[in-house]
Amino acid sequence: MPSADAARPSRCGACGEPSRVVGEALGLHGHGLRARQLYELLQTAGPSKTLEVVLRRYFCVRCSGITMVGPRGVVPRHLYGLGTILVALWMWSMWPLPAPKVRDALRPWRRSGDACIGRWASLERWARRLPWPNKLELPPGLRPREMARRRVQVALSYAPTGPPDAAAVMAGCVQVA
Ligand SMILES: [Zn+2]
Repeated sequence: MPSADAARPSRCGACGEPSRVVGEALGLHGHGLRARQLYELLQTAGPSKTLEVVLRRYFCVRCSGITMVGPRGVVPRHLYGLGTILVALWMWSMWPLPAPKVRDALRPWRRSGDACIGRWASLERWARRLPWPNKLELPPGLRPREMARRRVQVALSYAPTGPPDAAAVMAGCVQVA
């Protein structure tokens, strides 16, 4: 795990204040560690595994906001890791599989509760609002599955050459901010 100094982000995630300016006091102070769960595919075929990851917290002296820094592939406020989310969007938009089938293939637990039957709302939410890639502009009027496809296409465009499969999606998405 990198030190607080090595992992310090260049800017506050809330207000954008630079974390260090030459000749001035630090703008972002290390503020401890936070452990959280992450659902992530360790292979390209499901199910996901439940992992524990540790995030570093930084406190901004200007706005009192907290910026979290974690391992690559951790998306803030998302239980699933980035690679797994992109594979889910790939299955849903490119195969295309119905949402419950995608969920059943990828989720870390096996049994289906009543609450899980029907739609899997996470897919539409990810398609619309996943904070990745950074500068994706979606034309207005796209359906959620088409938004998902645009995101998957970005991942595939950064993948090494080969078939446009789950491995390519996972390899490509970590190359893009
Ligand atoms: Zn701030």
